[in-house]
Amino acid sequence: MDRRHFIHTASAAAAVTAVALQGCKTEKKPEAAEEASLGEIPTDRMEYRTGEHGEQVSLLGYGCMRWPTLPNGEVQTEGPAKGSDIDQEAVNRLVDYAMEHGINYYDASPMYCKGLCEQATGIALSRHPREKYMVATKLSNFDPYYWPREKSIEMYHNSFKNLQVDTIDFYLLHSVGGSGMEGFSKRYIDNGMIDFLMEERAAGRIKNLGFSFHGDMAVWDWCMEQHERIHWDFVQIQHNYVDWTASRRTEAHNGDSQYLYNDLASRNIPAVVMEPLLGSRLASLNQHATAELKALEPQRSIASWAFRFAGTQPKILTVLSGMTYMEHLQDNLRSYAPFKPLTDEEMSLLEKIGHEFAMFPTVPCTACAYCMPCPYDIDIPEVFRHFNNCLNEGLMQDDETASDYKKLRKKYLSSYLGKVSRDRQADHCIGCGKCMEHCPQNINIPKQMQRIDQYEQKLRESL
Ligand code: SF4
Ligand code: SF4
Repeated sequence: MDRRHFIHTASAAAAVTAVALQGCKTEKKPEAAEEASLGEIPTDRMEYRTGEHGEQVSLLGYGCMRWPTLPNGEVQTEGPAKGSDIDQEAVNRLVDYAMEHGINYYDASPMYCKGLCEQATGIALSRHPREKYMVATKLSNFDPYYWPREKSIEMYHNSFKNLQVDTIDFYLLHSVGGSGMEGFSKRYIDNGMIDFLMEERAAGRIKNLGFSFHGDMAVWDWCMEQHERIHWDFVQIQHNYVDWTASRRTEAHNGDSQYLYNDLASRNIPAVVMEPLLGSRLASLNQHATAELKALEPQRSIASWAFRFAGTQPKILTVLSGMTYMEHLQDNLRSYAPFKPLTDEEMSLLEKIGHEFAMFPTVPCTACAYCMPCPYDIDIPEVFRHFNNCLNEGLMQDDETASDYKKLRKKYLSSYLGKVSRDRQADHCIGCGKCMEHCPQNINIPKQMQRIDQYEQKLRESL
């Protein structure tokens, strides 16, 4: 796949290939680390887990889907990353720091960062001895253009070139289950790609073969039934203390992570964790939950609890975190270097918080941006993020007679405009539903847009 074709295809069939345009949209830069007083992060205390073939894998894995970008739409004008809007020097610094602190697992995809993730990751990693790191990447053949065998194989070969490696340590069928058994068959069975990848593994060019799962449990069951024939070396699942305790199968047909994890553990398949923070939603909680956690560990961040939870089960191989800023990286390192598993009491507390969180009427959006771009330019992840933040921070007030109604109304409307430009807000959604087929959380996006718009309309009408 050449990048020009990738971009062209993505623009020409925006709704079909929305996932291809997932940018390196950076998370809001965090406030100064709450835990500066915890001191230096040791370079020799990383927790390691053992992979299927004896690999020692760092419990913190680097999710490379959110590399930092240059400011003001700038692009690199020279060097191997010429034309890219990724801030390669910042990527190099992050990778150097991660390597120095023991992170040896780097998770990329041909589709992340507008198709430039593997290249940026390869540039940064190739400055280090090959035996010091492991790369994971994916067959991200979502677009029908890539379903024919030769196009999928082309995508596979390009990953080696972009990552500058001769072997891929962990190779995944990307986001299995989202399009049901029919989509799965087209992407991997009918074109013989599963057999091809098994042959590549037998030839030693792939060390571990697995899949990432989002979706239809029928596909999960098929994959598990085929384990004896295919032999999955690992499987990547969405795992956090909300999905563990509160199955959202009706809203997001991912199955609960307790079921998925136990199914893998019973077959002795190592699990790689994605969405430990539910797309940053578990990085900040409501006041009550925050107070409960801060009472136990005042200096630890709220996010650190989610990371400790994700690492506590023994068959978890590594926990992926998309770390854009050094502050993210340092905070996450503190959770795993050294690692302190949760006690039974702490586990119970997080399960209780997970239940309460799931009862809260937030939109289960993880800000992955797979639904983007919307043909009507709605900023779907930001609309949901703003709504969720307002709910979590207690800025929603339905009762017009409440004493704080006017204050909260003003705050909500001004922060909405500050986060999402007027022409990209929920009221511009026409309900076409084109975004829905790409959502790994199976959110009814137009319905949620309507819900948010109704709330906003009500606030405006009472002005
Ligand atoms: S349903 Fe709304 S948000 Fe989704 S693609 Fe259509 S206009 Fe955009
Ligand atoms: S709505 Fe779905 S696809 Fe879009 S950003 Fe949220 S979780 Fe991702």
